[in-house]
Amino acid sequence: VKRVYRFGKDSQGVNVTEGAASMKGVLGGKGANLAEMANIGLPVPPGFTITCQTCMEYANAGNVWPDGALDEIRAYRVDLEERMGKKIGDASDPLLVSVRSGAPMSMPGMMDTVLNLGLNDESIQGLIAQTGNPRFAWDSYRRFIQMFSNVVIGLDGDLFENAIIAMKQRRGAASDTDLTAEDLAELVSEFKAIFSQNTSAADYPSLVVDGEVRFPQDPMVQLQLAIEAVFGSWNNPRATLYRQKNKIADDLGTAVNVQCMVFGNKGNTSATGVAFTRNPADGTKEFYGDYLVNAQGEDVVAGIRNTSPISELKHVEGLTEAGQELEDVFVLLENHFRDMMDIEFTIEQGKLWMLQTRAGKRTAASALKVAIDMQREGLISKEEAVCCVEPSQLDQLLHPQFDKNARYDVLARGLNASPGAAVGKVVFSAADAVEAAERGEKTVLVRWETTPDDLAGMIAAEGILTSHGGKTSHAAVIARGMGAPCVCGAEALRIDAEKKQATVVGTDVVLREGDIISLDGTTGIVVLGAVDLVQPELTGDLDTILEWADEFRTLGVRANADNPEDAQLSREFGAEGIGLDRTEHMFLGERKQIIQSFILNEDEETREKAIADLYAAQTGDFYGMFKAMDGLPVIVRLLDPPLHEFLESPRTLDVEIARMEASGADARAVAEKRALLAKIDSFVEANPMLGLRGCRLGIVYPILPVMQVRAIATAAARLKKEGLDPRPEIMIPLVSTVNELAKLREVAQRTIAEVVEAEGVELHLEIGTMIELPRAAVTADEIATQADFFSFGTNDLTQTTFGFSRDDVEGEFIPQYLTEKLLPYNPFATIDPGVAKLVKMGVDLGRQGNPDLTVGVCGEHGGDPDSIHAFHKIGLDYVSCSPYRVPVARLAAAQAAL
Ligand code: ADP
Ligand code: MG
Ligand code: MG
Repeated sequence: VKRVYRFGKDSQGVNVTEGAASMKGVLGGKGANLAEMANIGLPVPPGFTITCQTCMEYANAGNVWPDGALDEIRAYRVDLEERMGKKIGDASDPLLVSVRSGAPMSMPGMMDTVLNLGLNDESIQGLIAQTGNPRFAWDSYRRFIQMFSNVVIGLDGDLFENAIIAMKQRRGAASDTDLTAEDLAELVSEFKAIFSQNTSAADYPSLVVDGEVRFPQDPMVQLQLAIEAVFGSWNNPRATLYRQKNKIADDLGTAVNVQCMVFGNKGNTSATGVAFTRNPADGTKEFYGDYLVNAQGEDVVAGIRNTSPISELKHVEGLTEAGQELEDVFVLLENHFRDMMDIEFTIEQGKLWMLQTRAGKRTAASALKVAIDMQREGLISKEEAVCCVEPSQLDQLLHPQFDKNARYDVLARGLNASPGAAVGKVVFSAADAVEAAERGEKTVLVRWETTPDDLAGMIAAEGILTSHGGKTSHAAVIARGMGAPCVCGAEALRIDAEKKQATVVGTDVVLREGDIISLDGTTGIVVLGAVDLVQPELTGDLDTILEWADEFRTLGVRANADNPEDAQLSREFGAEGIGLDRTEHMFLGERKQIIQSFILNEDEETREKAIADLYAAQTGDFYGMFKAMDGLPVIVRLLDPPLHEFLESPRTLDVEIARMEASGADARAVAEKRALLAKIDSFVEANPMLGLRGCRLGIVYPILPVMQVRAIATAAARLKKEGLDPRPEIMIPLVSTVNELAKLREVAQRTIAEVVEAEGVELHLEIGTMIELPRAAVTADEIATQADFFSFGTNDLTQTTFGFSRDDVEGEFIPQYLTEKLLPYNPFATIDPGVAKLVKMGVDLGRQGNPDLTVGVCGEHGGDPDSIHAFHKIGLDYVSCSPYRVPVARLAAAQAAL
């Protein structure tokens, strides 16, 4: 195997590059693009790249070099020296190199770069002689020792910074640049001493000379240690965590680029800078970036000195030519890579050198504008334009944000569970949020974690903050569904809901009810006080890209919504129907009393009254929904959750009874409460999610589906009479056998027929089922004979396939599973291949059973771009997701098709 590839020119000026942009998996992003730039004739300092695969072999062998690798590196090092006509470490004219990491994906968690490698006590003299600039040479040497110590050995950078500060104080120097060559030479001695004192002889036995660790003088030792450190950094905790968060595979490895140094710090005709070919914040077509005259490498990013805007470069004396050339390079790079590029460059004594290029990271707004502009400029096709916008980024555009210019102190941090920002008064209970909303006050609901009981409060609040739970906790899932900002798992919060206050660990802040806080669900930040918010402008660019996306996608996109406002919003976002209207969300607030009286009372009259009230209320709900979605399908799911979710919690009731007794309340009142408690207790199930819920409810209490179907059909009939085109469909949840579905289908059909008869209007309502149990998926051919459509409820299907409780998933073991890589990612966020297999089986069998079957998915996965790719492949007809995810899903569906 070939382990090393060279790039750049030989001594005759001939390009001898062996790699190309297409080889990112071998050469890493940086190495591949350095090769590509050299191939298209751009000035790239020569060097060579050691492959990512070598890194993996080295790491997997427990940091042992594979046979022959060091020999190959040596050969390429010698080749580089020949190409440059200089030798690393040479006492009269030394070659200096940088050692740079570069993984296939851009990875901020990786090792930093070491510059000026090859300097030692002899070659420094050569550098002085060659440049005639002792100050520059000593400054380069001290930078090298500092970087090598920090990056390769892991010594604390402060050790060196403190020595610089002390030196400046001794000399009365205001800035680094006031230090003379002699001062810097003295610093080099100090730095070497610091190195000796702080490096462990046990870890680096090869660096021990005369019983003491010494800064390595042998450039080959320097080089090998630096390369090993880059390889080792692939598995450092920062990099590992970054990969886990960004779903990057652990077996890619990083490449190492060894490249001749060029110097931006050789005086006023030298400079270094970073730039973008367009504005990465808003996409404007302009050269964007900063440079520093007489500076090296990281100085620009480190913010040590004030930088100047790139547009001025070509007007600076001594830099005009290089500045003009750079602008030509920008254009050339864009034309070649057909994307907005991010560039690192250095000018050495008037000569431009390109050090890096990659596709520029950009905001969502910029991504849209750049894609559309480039298509219009003829640079890319429509398909490519659609593919170069990251779907998950669109979230940024759809919610309010903290004003970028706002200043604030962070009070606490949690998980960025649902994007967007909110400002409001702190409330500690759902009821308080609802009350405040009635008074027209904006609130942030602060809870330990939320439960279905908190739903009304979550709707009433501007934002949700919890101290527990992760990104798939109840709070997070519901908030994302509603498009409400949510920060969850802010562990520093100690909430005392009873006292209506919270303390924040590490601060002396006590949050009380009514205090204003701000939270940013995009970043997970919580701030005390009000931060200015900006309403993001929905520019025409988003519309344009989504329209283009619609031309390419074959997967339909519907929304999960259960009220007319959300339905309307999803329609505006381009939803082609409602894939899931959860009727239980209509049973909140005062309706809760009605359903409670149905559940808790045995006498027929009370029950019938309750059903009649529910029927009236639901007919109104459905009327509003179908009207908002006129002409489009609305899938109404019949009641799904276990009934006790509508009841008071036995625990609260217990506490209440105890209080009543303690305060000597009327015995009859207490007895009544006790009876209620006993009744509620009778509904408690050990495993409610596997209990009396879904279609089982309809089988045990047939009056419920009859009431709901009658309400649906009646609302549709009324709208029809008004000349509208309502298209409700009836979905029966949690079916595991065809018999359940057949029975309830029969009930529904009979009810519809009655309504048709009573209203005198023709109705054709499709009846289908959710596939969310493995048994349903594997017997889908049978079930499909009774279904007009299937909708895969992948939340429950994931729960029942794995046997993982989705409500407890953040708690104990899943985080550990992720850390130990027993699971590659959270299967409740992105569809697991095993669950996807069941979906595919369900689709294929279902279509065998009923060739006209429509199939969709309505779990959280329906809004997840990676899952959407999987669903496209399986051949679903549509995905359904929360209204705010609809634009994301449209784009992801197009990309899946392209
Ligand atoms: P990162 O991946 O963190 O951007 P780089 O390897 O790109 O790290 O190095 C950071 C900076 O160091 C570069 O932007 C450049 O300014 C400087 N640098 C790296 N290699 C060289 C080199 N051969 N000559 C001059 N400067 C270099
Ligand atoms: Mg870089
Ligand atoms: Mg379900």
